[in-house]
Amino acid sequence: MIQERIVRGAAAGSAKNNTSTVASGGRYAVGTGIEETLLEQGPDAVLLLTADGSIAFVNAAAERLFGYPRDLLLGAQHTVLLSEDERGGFLRVFGRLGRGGLSGSRPFAAAGRRRDGSELSLEITCSLVTLDDGPAMAVAVRDGSHREDTDSGRRLAVSLLDATLESTSDGIVVISNEGLITGINDQYLKLWGMPPELLAAEDPTALVTFISQQLRDPDYFLQKVAELYADRVKQSHDLLELTDGRTVELYSRPQTVGENIVGRIWNFRDVTSTQRAQDQARRALAELAEQADKLKELAFQDPLTGLANRTLFTERVAAALLTRDPVHVLLLDLDDFKEVNDILGHHAGDRMLVKIAGRLQQCVGPHGTVARLGGDEFVVLLVGCNDSDAVAQRIVATLNAPFSIEGSLMRPALSLGVASRGTGAMTSSELLRQADLAMYAAKEAGKNCYLHFQPAMLTELLARTQLTTGLRRAVELGQIIVHYQPVVSTELLEVVQFEALARWQFEGKLMPPDEFIRTAERSGLIREIGAEVLRRSCAELQPWLAEDPSRSLAVNVSGVQLLHRDFAERVLEIAEWSQVDPHQLVLEVTESVFFDPRSHVIAQLESLRGAGIRVALDDFGTGYSSLGRLQALPVDIVKIDKSFVSMLRTGAEKLPILTSMIHMARSLGLKVTAEGIETPEQARYLMAQGCDALQGFLFSRPEPEHRRELGIRSTAAAVARLAGDSRPE
Ligand code: C2E
Ligand code: CA
Ligand code: CA
Repeated sequence: MIQERIVRGAAAGSAKNNTSTVASGGRYAVGTGIEETLLEQGPDAVLLLTADGSIAFVNAAAERLFGYPRDLLLGAQHTVLLSEDERGGFLRVFGRLGRGGLSGSRPFAAAGRRRDGSELSLEITCSLVTLDDGPAMAVAVRDGSHREDTDSGRRLAVSLLDATLESTSDGIVVISNEGLITGINDQYLKLWGMPPELLAAEDPTALVTFISQQLRDPDYFLQKVAELYADRVKQSHDLLELTDGRTVELYSRPQTVGENIVGRIWNFRDVTSTQRAQDQARRALAELAEQADKLKELAFQDPLTGLANRTLFTERVAAALLTRDPVHVLLLDLDDFKEVNDILGHHAGDRMLVKIAGRLQQCVGPHGTVARLGGDEFVVLLVGCNDSDAVAQRIVATLNAPFSIEGSLMRPALSLGVASRGTGAMTSSELLRQADLAMYAAKEAGKNCYLHFQPAMLTELLARTQLTTGLRRAVELGQIIVHYQPVVSTELLEVVQFEALARWQFEGKLMPPDEFIRTAERSGLIREIGAEVLRRSCAELQPWLAEDPSRSLAVNVSGVQLLHRDFAERVLEIAEWSQVDPHQLVLEVTESVFFDPRSHVIAQLESLRGAGIRVALDDFGTGYSSLGRLQALPVDIVKIDKSFVSMLRTGAEKLPILTSMIHMARSLGLKVTAEGIETPEQARYLMAQGCDALQGFLFSRPEPEHRRELGIRSTAAAVARLAGDSRPE
């Protein structure tokens, strides 16, 4: 046999120089010298495999290790030396060596089989050698039984891995340190839609490329893979977004056997549905949080104006009261806001409230809290402010500036009450209550102004509330009665009219109207009281009126009654019910009703006049009356207020205003009645000025129905006295 040169390295432990000689007895003979001896008699088993896997050379150690005589091995397939598990043999290794894909020097473990069938663990190192008739593989084999423990561990690990691979729904691939695919499952192939051909190539790089092509961010993945290969111990957890919309979770960790890292496990899990559920849950949570915020806001906010609400306001007042700073509460209520709502509609009302809220905030600035308590009630908290009057004044002035809503010019007026924390301890509700009382007093004081709380307001309130309750019962119980005061014609010198004047009769006493009419107006009870007075007086005076069509009945009407759109209708109903001719009815109103911008107020008076009822302008000369305006008012009679009449003492005074009032009215074709006449001088003077009728204590006090005749007689007597006096001596 020719000596062959074994080129480029040899099996483990073999010669370092380039030459080895194949031993005699084999197909290849080993050359002479120290190398041969080493190869033949060295401690490690050495074999040479040809490309088809048959054994071309074995040494003595190999014979010993496997228990075969050399001649049985030479020419045989190397697989006879391997356990059933290693059926594939080393040809794969061979192929890879040929492609230069694997370093020849890294030892690996394999299970071997002796001639007697017993198995043994082997530690194998292969390297490629080139012989004259082609490549061959030099294989150095060592008994690996000292690693038995690890090996059985490895087997256990492998079997466990296999079991896991089969049972899990994750897609798993295990790549050994050598770059071999040592484990893979169907789910992995399914997950990535991998063709089996790709696996046949046994090229992990191809797998990585295949996967990366399906990713939204392939670079990230490639970088991650590189990182993990560079660091064997590293574990990683990533979410991969696929271009088809799926989300895959990648968990990668080292594969260990005992303490050794033998490869890396790549675990892929389709988490699309979980991810979606999580996304949904996250979104739902975010929405919930948003809603909670909104709810919280709502709990403290007035939805219409965006101002603080009562809850937040009370909280702030309570907090302010804990400080030593001056604390003021300014409570305000719009005057006559109800009418804005009633007449212009709720939409306009809302817009007005929003406007007011804006103005209030401007007045108060960022250091005060403005809240809406509900309806047209607003409240301001000032902390650390030393001039609450200045703020209150500013609010009254600013809010009163006109603005237009839906074509109507609005000029909000308000009543404001101020309460300040005194020296003693106070709760927020006490403070609010005091501000409320002061606000109420401001309304009483004539509206569009502000007042500070005074302790006396408390007692007044008590009286007032008792009055309202009492008055309500009075109407129900028929305690509102009517007294009649005669009105004398200066032409006929006899009673031509009675003015009906309301009285509250209870517990044997009579309460004059000055003490309850305002309360009745405020509570709305005036509507019932007014109707009752009209009904009663019509019923009681009907016989007297029926005797002479020139007689009439005068009834006082409050502006509040005119606000009700059915007022005119109700008056005419009562006239009809009592059979009183509307031409014999006079309604006395004060000038303020003509200032009311709401058209239906005057329209009602006009429609009543159309039905024959006359309208008298009561208390003329007081208030804002201007003679110039008289012409434009839909009235028939003017009643000169008693304050003018009382200026007359001797009858010789010059009273230009009084005389021009009378003359003006007469020139406009109006009838003039003078009231409050107490002396004959006054009577004579007014008769001389051309007044049409006179009324006053001089003739008669107002009398109840059963004493009305008495009033007529007393009037006749007074008239006679006047006539007698005026008779020339
Ligand atoms: P008024 O309409 O100006 O009524 C005349 C008031 O002057 C009456 O007072 C009458 O008693 C009083 N008076 C009459 N002659 C004299 C006099 O010579 N000297 C003085 N000092 N006073 C005189 P009264 O009855 O107390 O009524 C007060 C006011 O109450 C009325 O003033 C009227 O505004 C109101 N009032 C009375 N009854 C009603 C009613 O039924 N409805 C409405 N809305 N108001 C009423
Ligand atoms: Ca009157
Ligand atoms: Ca009057």
